[in-house]
Amino acid sequence: MIDFANFYQLIAKNRLSHWLHTLPAQLHAWQHDNQHGDLPRWNRALNKLPVVAPGEIELKSGVEIGSAESLGEGERKKVESLLRHFMPWRKGPFTVHGIHIDTEWRSDWKWDRVLPHISPLAGRYVLDVGCGSGYHLWRMVGEGAKLAVGIDPSPLFLCQFEAIRHFAGNDQHAHLLPLGIQELPCLRAFDTVFSMGVLYHRKSPIEHIEQLRNQLKDDGELVLETLVVDGGVNEVLVPTDRYGKMRNVWFIPSSSALKLWVERCGFTDVRIVDENMTSTDEQRRTDWMINESLSDYLDPDNPALTVEGHPAPKRAVLIARKAKD
Ligand code: SAH
Repeated sequence: MIDFANFYQLIAKNRLSHWLHTLPAQLHAWQHDNQHGDLPRWNRALNKLPVVAPGEIELKSGVEIGSAESLGEGERKKVESLLRHFMPWRKGPFTVHGIHIDTEWRSDWKWDRVLPHISPLAGRYVLDVGCGSGYHLWRMVGEGAKLAVGIDPSPLFLCQFEAIRHFAGNDQHAHLLPLGIQELPCLRAFDTVFSMGVLYHRKSPIEHIEQLRNQLKDDGELVLETLVVDGGVNEVLVPTDRYGKMRNVWFIPSSSALKLWVERCGFTDVRIVDENMTSTDEQRRTDWMINESLSDYLDPDNPALTVEGHPAPKRAVLIARKAKD
Protein backbone atom coordinates (compact mmCIF):
# COMPACT_ATOMS: atom_id res chain seq x y z
CA MET A 1 0.00 0.00 0.00
CA ILE A 2 1.43 3.35 -1.05
CA ASP A 3 1.43 5.72 1.89
CA PHE A 4 1.98 9.42 1.92
CA ALA A 5 3.40 9.82 5.45
CA ASN A 6 6.81 10.91 4.15
CA PHE A 7 5.18 13.69 2.16
CA TYR A 8 3.19 14.91 5.16
CA GLN A 9 6.35 14.98 7.28
CA LEU A 10 8.18 16.88 4.59
CA ILE A 11 5.57 19.58 4.06
CA ALA A 12 4.90 19.99 7.79
CA LYS A 13 8.23 21.83 7.87
CA ASN A 14 7.94 23.87 4.69
CA ARG A 15 5.75 26.47 2.98
CA LEU A 16 3.14 23.82 2.04
CA SER A 17 2.23 23.06 5.68
CA HIS A 18 -1.24 24.62 5.28
CA TRP A 19 -2.02 21.81 2.80
CA LEU A 20 -2.14 19.47 5.80
CA HIS A 21 -5.57 20.92 6.69
CA THR A 22 -7.15 19.02 3.78
CA LEU A 23 -4.68 16.60 2.18
CA PRO A 24 -4.50 13.69 4.66
CA ALA A 25 -8.30 13.31 4.76
CA GLN A 26 -8.50 13.39 0.95
CA LEU A 27 -5.78 10.81 0.47
CA HIS A 28 -7.20 8.64 3.24
CA ALA A 29 -10.53 8.67 1.38
CA TRP A 30 -8.70 7.85 -1.86
CA GLN A 31 -7.02 4.86 -0.27
CA HIS A 32 -10.27 3.51 1.10
CA ASP A 33 -12.64 4.34 -1.74
CA ASN A 34 -10.41 3.67 -4.73
CA GLN A 35 -11.91 0.56 -6.21
CA HIS A 36 -9.66 0.27 -9.27
CA GLY A 37 -9.69 -3.47 -9.94
CA ASP A 38 -6.00 -3.68 -10.84
CA LEU A 39 -4.67 -1.77 -7.84
CA PRO A 40 -4.06 -4.87 -5.66
CA ARG A 41 -2.11 -6.48 -8.54
CA TRP A 42 -0.03 -3.32 -9.06
CA ASN A 43 0.62 -3.07 -5.31
CA ARG A 44 1.82 -6.67 -5.27
CA ALA A 45 4.20 -5.94 -8.15
CA LEU A 46 5.49 -2.84 -6.34
CA ASN A 47 6.13 -4.87 -3.19
CA LYS A 48 8.09 -7.46 -5.15
CA LEU A 49 10.56 -4.98 -6.66
CA PRO A 50 14.00 -5.89 -5.33
CA VAL A 51 16.03 -3.32 -3.44
CA VAL A 52 19.03 -2.40 -5.59
CA ALA A 53 21.51 0.37 -4.76
CA PRO A 54 20.54 3.14 -7.19
CA GLY A 55 24.12 3.90 -8.21
CA GLU A 56 24.29 6.86 -10.53
CA ILE A 57 21.06 8.73 -11.27
CA GLU A 58 21.01 10.87 -14.41
CA LEU A 59 18.11 13.31 -14.54
CA LYS A 60 19.50 16.14 -16.60
CA SER A 61 19.65 14.57 -20.05
CA GLY A 62 17.01 11.88 -19.45
CA VAL A 63 15.82 9.63 -16.62
CA GLU A 64 18.45 6.92 -16.19
CA ILE A 65 18.93 5.07 -12.95
CA GLY A 66 21.87 2.79 -12.19
CA SER A 67 23.60 0.60 -14.72
CA ALA A 68 23.08 -2.72 -16.47
CA GLU A 69 25.88 -4.26 -14.40
CA SER A 70 23.94 -3.84 -11.12
CA LEU A 71 21.62 -6.73 -11.95
CA GLY A 72 22.43 -10.31 -12.91
CA GLU A 73 20.64 -11.73 -15.96
CA GLY A 74 17.99 -13.54 -13.90
CA GLU A 75 17.26 -10.54 -11.72
CA ARG A 76 17.09 -8.23 -14.74
CA LYS A 77 14.44 -10.48 -16.32
CA LYS A 78 12.49 -10.52 -13.06
CA VAL A 79 12.56 -6.71 -12.71
CA GLU A 80 11.57 -6.27 -16.34
CA SER A 81 8.59 -8.57 -16.00
CA LEU A 82 7.50 -6.79 -12.80
CA LEU A 83 7.74 -3.42 -14.57
CA ARG A 84 5.59 -4.81 -17.38
CA HIS A 85 2.75 -5.25 -14.87
CA PHE A 86 2.35 -1.47 -15.09
CA MET A 87 1.66 -1.43 -18.85
CA PRO A 88 0.57 0.59 -20.73
CA TRP A 89 3.58 2.85 -20.12
CA ARG A 90 2.66 6.12 -21.84
CA LYS A 91 5.01 8.88 -20.62
CA GLY A 92 8.77 8.45 -20.46
CA PRO A 93 11.24 6.97 -21.47
CA PHE A 94 12.99 5.58 -18.40
CA THR A 95 16.10 3.44 -18.13
CA VAL A 96 16.36 1.42 -14.91
CA HIS A 97 19.51 -0.65 -14.42
CA GLY A 98 19.82 -1.17 -18.15
CA ILE A 99 16.10 -1.91 -18.71
CA HIS A 100 14.84 0.61 -21.22
CA ILE A 101 11.14 1.41 -20.81
CA ASP A 102 10.30 2.68 -24.29
CA THR A 103 7.07 4.55 -23.61
CA GLU A 104 4.36 5.58 -26.08
CA TRP A 105 5.48 9.21 -25.81
CA ARG A 106 8.91 10.75 -26.15
CA SER A 107 8.13 13.05 -23.21
CA ASP A 108 11.77 14.14 -23.33
CA TRP A 109 11.05 15.90 -26.63
CA LYS A 110 8.32 17.96 -24.97
CA TRP A 111 10.75 18.83 -22.17
CA ASP A 112 13.31 19.96 -24.74
CA ARG A 113 10.72 22.34 -26.21
CA VAL A 114 9.72 23.72 -22.79
CA LEU A 115 12.98 23.96 -20.82
CA PRO A 116 14.78 26.70 -22.79
CA HIS A 117 11.91 29.13 -22.17
CA ILE A 118 11.17 28.78 -18.45
CA SER A 119 12.73 30.47 -15.42
CA PRO A 120 15.51 28.27 -13.98
CA LEU A 121 14.01 25.72 -11.60
CA ALA A 122 16.91 25.60 -9.14
CA GLY A 123 15.61 25.97 -5.57
CA ARG A 124 11.99 26.29 -6.66
CA TYR A 125 8.79 24.64 -5.43
CA VAL A 126 7.16 23.20 -8.52
CA LEU A 127 3.72 21.70 -9.17
CA ASP A 128 3.05 19.53 -12.24
CA VAL A 129 -0.70 19.19 -12.79
CA GLY A 130 -1.64 16.04 -14.73
CA CYS A 131 1.89 14.70 -14.46
CA GLY A 132 1.15 11.20 -15.84
CA SER A 133 3.87 8.77 -14.72
CA GLY A 134 5.85 11.69 -13.34
CA TYR A 135 8.48 11.71 -16.08
CA HIS A 136 8.77 15.50 -16.08
CA LEU A 137 8.93 15.59 -12.25
CA TRP A 138 12.27 13.80 -12.49
CA ARG A 139 13.49 16.20 -15.13
CA MET A 140 12.45 19.12 -12.85
CA VAL A 141 14.48 17.56 -10.02
CA GLY A 142 17.34 17.24 -12.52
CA GLU A 143 17.13 21.01 -13.00
CA GLY A 144 17.53 21.53 -9.26
CA ALA A 145 13.91 22.01 -8.12
CA LYS A 146 13.75 21.99 -4.31
CA LEU A 147 10.48 20.06 -4.40
CA ALA A 148 8.54 18.74 -7.41
CA VAL A 149 4.96 17.76 -6.61
CA GLY A 150 2.85 16.06 -9.27
CA ILE A 151 -0.87 15.44 -9.16
CA ASP A 152 -2.67 12.95 -11.39
CA PRO A 153 -5.89 11.08 -10.64
CA SER A 154 -4.80 7.87 -12.41
CA PRO A 155 -3.82 5.10 -9.95
CA LEU A 156 -1.78 3.35 -12.66
CA PHE A 157 0.42 6.41 -13.14
CA LEU A 158 0.95 6.65 -9.38
CA CYS A 159 2.15 3.03 -9.39
CA GLN A 160 4.48 3.69 -12.34
CA PHE A 161 5.89 6.69 -10.51
CA GLU A 162 6.39 4.70 -7.30
CA ALA A 163 8.17 1.94 -9.24
CA ILE A 164 10.64 4.46 -10.63
CA ARG A 165 10.99 6.18 -7.24
CA HIS A 166 11.74 2.82 -5.65
CA PHE A 167 14.76 2.41 -7.92
CA ALA A 168 15.74 6.04 -7.38
CA GLY A 169 16.32 5.21 -3.69
CA ASN A 170 12.95 6.68 -2.63
CA ASP A 171 14.14 10.15 -3.54
CA GLN A 172 12.28 12.81 -1.54
CA HIS A 173 12.49 15.63 -4.07
CA ALA A 174 9.70 14.27 -6.28
CA HIS A 175 6.23 13.21 -5.09
CA LEU A 176 3.04 12.21 -6.90
CA LEU A 177 -0.37 12.54 -5.28
CA PRO A 178 -3.46 10.87 -6.81
CA LEU A 179 -5.60 13.98 -7.03
CA GLY A 180 -7.30 16.04 -9.71
CA ILE A 181 -6.61 19.78 -9.92
CA GLN A 182 -10.16 20.52 -8.76
CA GLU A 183 -9.36 18.83 -5.43
CA LEU A 184 -6.60 21.29 -4.49
CA PRO A 185 -7.28 24.16 -2.09
CA CYS A 186 -5.86 27.59 -3.05
CA LEU A 187 -2.30 26.93 -1.92
CA ARG A 188 -0.66 30.05 -3.41
CA ALA A 189 2.69 28.43 -2.63
CA PHE A 190 4.41 27.25 -5.82
CA ASP A 191 7.05 29.17 -7.76
CA THR A 192 6.24 27.37 -11.00
CA VAL A 193 3.07 25.52 -12.00
CA PHE A 194 3.04 23.28 -15.06
CA SER A 195 -0.10 22.07 -16.83
CA MET A 196 0.90 20.06 -19.87
CA GLY A 197 -1.54 18.03 -21.93
CA VAL A 198 -4.45 18.65 -19.54
CA LEU A 199 -6.38 21.80 -20.57
CA TYR A 200 -8.21 20.19 -23.50
CA HIS A 201 -9.47 17.44 -21.19
CA ARG A 202 -11.16 19.98 -18.93
CA LYS A 203 -14.80 20.89 -19.52
CA SER A 204 -14.17 24.36 -18.21
CA PRO A 205 -10.82 25.70 -19.44
CA ILE A 206 -11.10 29.15 -17.84
CA GLU A 207 -11.75 27.51 -14.49
CA HIS A 208 -8.70 25.30 -15.08
CA ILE A 209 -6.51 28.36 -15.64
CA GLU A 210 -7.93 29.95 -12.48
CA GLN A 211 -7.22 26.77 -10.52
CA LEU A 212 -3.63 26.83 -11.76
CA ARG A 213 -3.35 30.48 -10.75
CA ASN A 214 -4.58 29.63 -7.25
CA GLN A 215 -1.55 27.38 -6.71
CA LEU A 216 1.02 30.05 -7.59
CA LYS A 217 2.76 32.62 -5.42
CA ASP A 218 2.55 36.20 -6.65
CA ASP A 219 4.93 36.59 -9.60
CA GLY A 220 5.05 32.79 -9.96
CA GLU A 221 5.35 31.26 -13.41
CA LEU A 222 2.70 29.30 -15.29
CA VAL A 223 3.81 26.86 -17.98
CA LEU A 224 0.80 25.76 -20.00
CA GLU A 225 1.06 23.26 -22.84
CA THR A 226 -2.00 22.22 -24.78
CA LEU A 227 -3.47 21.36 -28.18
CA VAL A 228 -4.14 24.36 -30.41
CA VAL A 229 -5.68 25.00 -33.82
CA ASP A 230 -4.70 27.60 -36.40
CA GLY A 231 -6.81 30.75 -36.30
CA GLY A 232 -7.51 34.14 -34.77
CA VAL A 233 -8.08 35.35 -31.25
CA ASN A 234 -11.65 34.08 -31.05
CA GLU A 235 -11.22 30.76 -32.79
CA VAL A 236 -11.75 27.63 -30.74
CA LEU A 237 -12.49 24.06 -31.85
CA VAL A 238 -15.07 22.21 -29.77
CA PRO A 239 -15.25 18.76 -31.37
CA THR A 240 -18.81 17.59 -32.04
CA ASP A 241 -17.83 14.18 -30.74
CA ARG A 242 -14.36 12.63 -30.56
CA TYR A 243 -10.99 14.17 -31.37
CA GLY A 244 -8.30 11.70 -32.47
CA LYS A 245 -10.61 8.96 -31.11
CA MET A 246 -10.49 10.59 -27.64
CA ARG A 247 -13.91 11.11 -26.07
CA ASN A 248 -12.77 13.61 -23.44
CA VAL A 249 -11.61 16.55 -25.56
CA TRP A 250 -13.52 19.79 -25.01
CA PHE A 251 -11.79 23.03 -26.04
CA ILE A 252 -8.91 23.44 -28.50
CA PRO A 253 -8.22 27.19 -28.85
CA SER A 254 -5.96 28.96 -31.30
CA SER A 255 -2.69 30.09 -29.69
CA SER A 256 -3.91 33.69 -29.64
CA ALA A 257 -7.22 32.68 -28.03
CA LEU A 258 -5.26 30.74 -25.40
CA LYS A 259 -3.12 33.81 -24.72
CA LEU A 260 -6.27 35.91 -24.30
CA TRP A 261 -7.80 33.41 -21.86
CA VAL A 262 -4.65 33.44 -19.71
CA GLU A 263 -4.49 37.26 -19.75
CA ARG A 264 -8.16 37.47 -18.73
CA CYS A 265 -7.38 35.19 -15.76
CA GLY A 266 -4.88 37.59 -14.17
CA PHE A 267 -1.54 36.80 -15.77
CA THR A 268 0.99 39.14 -17.35
CA ASP A 269 3.97 38.66 -19.71
CA VAL A 270 1.98 36.00 -21.55
CA ARG A 271 4.01 34.49 -24.38
CA ILE A 272 3.54 31.59 -26.78
CA VAL A 273 7.08 30.23 -26.93
CA ASP A 274 6.63 27.15 -29.08
CA GLU A 275 4.24 25.54 -31.54
CA ASN A 276 4.77 22.04 -32.79
CA MET A 277 2.89 19.41 -34.83
CA THR A 278 2.91 16.12 -32.91
CA SER A 279 4.67 13.52 -35.03
CA THR A 280 4.21 9.77 -35.19
CA ASP A 281 7.83 9.53 -34.01
CA GLU A 282 6.94 11.37 -30.78
CA GLN A 283 3.75 9.37 -30.04
CA ARG A 284 3.76 5.77 -31.22
CA ARG A 285 3.03 2.18 -30.24
CA THR A 286 5.97 0.45 -28.55
CA ASP A 287 6.77 -2.79 -26.84
CA TRP A 288 5.66 -1.16 -23.53
CA MET A 289 2.40 0.32 -24.92
CA ILE A 290 0.81 -2.10 -27.33
CA ASN A 291 -2.52 -0.32 -27.91
CA GLU A 292 -3.43 2.14 -30.66
CA SER A 293 -1.38 5.31 -30.95
CA LEU A 294 -1.18 8.49 -33.03
CA SER A 295 -0.88 6.82 -36.47
CA ASP A 296 -4.22 5.08 -35.77
CA TYR A 297 -5.84 8.43 -34.91
CA LEU A 298 -4.90 10.13 -38.18
CA ASP A 299 -6.67 9.90 -41.54
CA PRO A 300 -4.65 7.31 -43.49
CA ASP A 301 -5.21 9.29 -46.73
CA ASN A 302 -4.37 12.68 -45.20
CA PRO A 303 -2.23 12.77 -42.05
CA ALA A 304 -2.94 16.50 -41.69
CA LEU A 305 -6.35 15.44 -40.38
CA THR A 306 -7.57 13.19 -37.58
CA VAL A 307 -9.84 10.26 -38.46
CA GLU A 308 -12.80 12.55 -37.63
CA GLY A 309 -11.59 15.22 -40.08
CA HIS A 310 -10.28 17.68 -37.45
CA PRO A 311 -6.84 19.29 -37.83
CA ALA A 312 -4.11 16.85 -36.68
CA PRO A 313 -2.65 17.53 -33.23
CA LYS A 314 -0.61 20.68 -32.88
CA ARG A 315 0.64 21.83 -29.49
CA ALA A 316 1.63 25.18 -28.08
CA VAL A 317 3.69 26.08 -25.01
CA LEU A 318 2.62 29.24 -23.19
CA ILE A 319 4.52 30.96 -20.37
CA ALA A 320 3.01 33.62 -18.12
CA ARG A 321 3.56 35.38 -14.82
CA LYS A 322 0.92 35.62 -12.10
CA ALA A 323 -0.06 39.22 -11.54
CA LYS A 324 -0.67 40.22 -7.91
CA ASP A 325 -4.31 39.93 -6.75
N1 SAH B 1 1.75 16.17 -18.30
C1 SAH B 1 2.08 14.94 -19.01
C2 SAH B 1 0.88 14.02 -19.15
C3 SAH B 1 -0.27 14.55 -19.96
S1 SAH B 1 -1.58 13.37 -20.21
C4 SAH B 1 2.65 15.29 -20.34
O1 SAH B 1 2.51 16.42 -20.79
O2 SAH B 1 3.25 14.44 -20.98
C5 SAH B 1 -2.89 14.14 -19.28
C6 SAH B 1 -2.89 13.70 -17.84
O3 SAH B 1 -3.85 14.48 -17.15
C7 SAH B 1 -3.29 12.25 -17.65
O4 SAH B 1 -2.25 11.58 -16.98
C8 SAH B 1 -4.56 12.31 -16.82
O5 SAH B 1 -4.67 11.26 -15.88
C9 SAH B 1 -4.41 13.66 -16.15
N2 SAH B 1 -5.68 14.28 -15.71
C10 SAH B 1 -6.93 14.06 -16.17
N3 SAH B 1 -7.83 14.79 -15.49
C11 SAH B 1 -7.11 15.51 -14.57
C12 SAH B 1 -7.48 16.43 -13.54
N4 SAH B 1 -8.74 16.75 -13.33
N5 SAH B 1 -6.51 16.98 -12.78
C13 SAH B 1 -5.21 16.64 -12.99
N6 SAH B 1 -4.82 15.76 -13.95
C14 SAH B 1 -5.75 15.20 -14.72
